[in-house]
Amino acid sequence: MDALSKNDIIELNITDMTADGEGIGKYNGFPFFVKDAIIGDVISAKVVKLKKTYGYARVESVLTPSPDRVTPHCSIARQCGGCQIQAMDYKAQLAFKEKMVRNNLSRIGGIESDTYAFLPIVGMDNPYEYRNKAQFPVAKDKNGNIVMGFYAGRTHSVIGCERCHIGDRVNEPVLAAVRDYMTVCTIPPYNEIDTSGTVRHILIRVGKKTGEVMVCLVINADTLPDTSYLVEKLCDSVPGIASVMININKEKTNVILGPVSKTIWGKSYIEDFIGDIRYRISPNSFYQVNPIQTEKLYTKALSLAELTGNETVWDLYCGIGTISLFLAKKARKVYGVEIVPQAIEDARQNALLNGIDNATFFAGKAEEVVPAYYDEHRDEHADVMVVDPPRKGCDEKLLSTMISMSPERIVYVSCDSATLSRDLKFLTSNGYDVRQVQCFDQFPHTCHVETVACLQRVDM
Ligand code: SAH
Repeated sequence: MDALSKNDIIELNITDMTADGEGIGKYNGFPFFVKDAIIGDVISAKVVKLKKTYGYARVESVLTPSPDRVTPHCSIARQCGGCQIQAMDYKAQLAFKEKMVRNNLSRIGGIESDTYAFLPIVGMDNPYEYRNKAQFPVAKDKNGNIVMGFYAGRTHSVIGCERCHIGDRVNEPVLAAVRDYMTVCTIPPYNEIDTSGTVRHILIRVGKKTGEVMVCLVINADTLPDTSYLVEKLCDSVPGIASVMININKEKTNVILGPVSKTIWGKSYIEDFIGDIRYRISPNSFYQVNPIQTEKLYTKALSLAELTGNETVWDLYCGIGTISLFLAKKARKVYGVEIVPQAIEDARQNALLNGIDNATFFAGKAEEVVPAYYDEHRDEHADVMVVDPPRKGCDEKLLSTMISMSPERIVYVSCDSATLSRDLKFLTSNGYDVRQVQCFDQFPHTCHVETVACLQRVDM
């Protein structure tokens, strides 16, 4: 845009938001994306980047706040990379997510809203303190003091913050105890630049139902000195402490955890429940971070599967078997498929732990395992197939095989409504109808949303 240059100050009326939570406002018809601006705001903004057909701007000041603008609970909401829409009233956040999903279904999927039931989004009664896992980076500030907190958005500088409002309250006493230990026993934080120092991250996991707490120090060393002091401090000040561990990560990498974890005190895992299924969680295990919402989501997936006890069910992209085990009690047989072999081992362990003997797990790519299985067992019928893929959605080879296997119902759990819509377009062009869609807010204050869609085979 010729008339404008970088650093110009402009007035923008924010009329829409992107899927990443950036506000969109037009200046003489030219769209600008603005972080931290929400629909309904009128802002004064500084132009930071100009492209041919759009630009980026930064909020200078809010001239007229949106009716949905609220004061974020967190004082570092704007700097921190974790949440994007804390400044938006929670009800408005839910409406925004719902609208985004409906738009994608229609625009990308060609699925019009009058052809299926769209049930109201399921939000949280208290959309704070929901996370059961936190990973605090540890560093030294300019004055040599220990800082524990979060990376500033898209950077590696650590902003001190020991109270994350979407994290569990137990994080604060844990961090205080670790800080005390590092100070008294002179254990230095890790320095990313010259790879000196010891403590890189503090991983905290909480079993929300069991109250068990795991603290795992990720260290740039093979051992940690004076751990009895650390354990004593943690036991004194952290209710529910059940496991104190170290994880060894000596690589120059952004990946937080290394492959080896060792127990210093207590158990090498904690346990938690979703519904009445018990799960064992190790430092490296994948486990849903919002168990309250996960239970609601899985209960919905189970009800959509309409199991009577005679069905053969596939759970694709099954992780540690969370959905599979939820379904197993109501089905004749469940097959789970997951690409990470360690997760499949956890899934088998979790089945044993719950006395579930009708679940079989395969490690491998869903788009390879399922076609190979189908080739060998043409006569076996699949009644229900559940998929819960990562953001990129399902591989088309998998979708084609699912269509050949022709289950009565497909339950699609998705964390990205754009790829969900693309995949639903494929399925609805090949003999399936979308019957019902519902969103679950697994990640309040971020732009993410989970969606579950139920498809029914239509006999053509
Ligand atoms: N259903 C599980 C996990 C969902 S996350 C739960 O609710 O806990 C998506 C999972 O898909 C991850 O565990 C990831 O490792 C796995 N995955 C990614 N690509 C895959 C593929 N091509 N085939 C099978 N699993 C895959």
